[in-house]
Amino acid sequence: MSITKDYFGKAAVAKDVYLFTLTNKNGLTVKITDYGGIVTSLLVPDKNGKLGDIVLGFDNIESYLAGHPYFGAIIGRYGNRIAAGKFSLNGKEYKLAVNDGENHLHGGLIGFDKVIWNTAEVQDPLGPALELSYFSRDGEEGYPGNLSVNVKYTMDDRNELRIDYMAQTDQVTVVNLTHHSYFNLACSGDILSHSMQINADRYTVVNSSLIPTGEIRPVQNSPMDFIASHTIGSRIAQVQGGYDHNYVLNKVEKELSLAARVQETFSGRTMEVFTTEPGVQFYSGNFLNGSLKGKGGAVYQKHAGFCLETQHFPDSPNHKEFPSTVLKKGEIYKQTTVFKFL
Ligand code: BGC
Repeated sequence: MSITKDYFGKAAVAKDVYLFTLTNKNGLTVKITDYGGIVTSLLVPDKNGKLGDIVLGFDNIESYLAGHPYFGAIIGRYGNRIAAGKFSLNGKEYKLAVNDGENHLHGGLIGFDKVIWNTAEVQDPLGPALELSYFSRDGEEGYPGNLSVNVKYTMDDRNELRIDYMAQTDQVTVVNLTHHSYFNLACSGDILSHSMQINADRYTVVNSSLIPTGEIRPVQNSPMDFIASHTIGSRIAQVQGGYDHNYVLNKVEKELSLAARVQETFSGRTMEVFTTEPGVQFYSGNFLNGSLKGKGGAVYQKHAGFCLETQHFPDSPNHKEFPSTVLKKGEIYKQTTVFKFL
């Protein structure tokens, strides 16, 4: 197993960015840049042992800087949407940057996906690891509190890409970190023939701008049902806009448990997602439209990749009935998500 570090260009004037390559003892390889903590490439074997890159992304930093829908990035301070970019904590209202119509999405204008993280290479007993840390100052994107964030990626020898999140604040705030890789287990084409299983009996219903109404509805007898595995494409036409919903995971408290299993029969690749989080956003790449040219000249059409964003529910700061995303001074925010390849 090994870790290598290569120069990846300049992110902004006088800011160098790097690309770290973590390879486990079986040859599974993840490339991560300190710009946004973005996973730019993830090599996983097919049924014949041939490695293929299963995430969408670009070959160079310029394309990442030119703008993209959060390919492979760490998302924070708050993954998903906060209605009208507003919430109250202890009687005080906070106004966040608004970057998705009238709402706040994925941390705002310069979220954790667009900042340069500090890095430390670690030889963890589980496999090679990269620790990223970022200090988000009080008031950044409108959030209260200085927040110290630490995200550790491990390319573990059991063929798991493990992400451990940690954060601490000096003032009460809200935190909801996630990872935003777009996966395609076939390495090309669309993901509609991938089989998906989501360990959730319920999902959070949203309005037309994808803000939860507060209703938590059973998936049964609806195209939202992925309790039994079936292809993403089989019922997507019945879901307006495609899948872009938060599933309420079946689980006991904060255990690291199975959230989803995805299979692509032609390549023979299977990915399982485990998380300590209460929810997962299943996004079927509905807004990709062929305008982005990716790695090796790939054109990313609608449904070229899917995301499984493990998370707390969208707009939780405005829904007291949802699991809380509040982090107080003295508390430690800790979450883990594992993408396991079989
Ligand atoms: C959201 C989509 C959004 C995409 C980024 C996903 O996490 O659920 O609604 O369009 O991120 O572009």
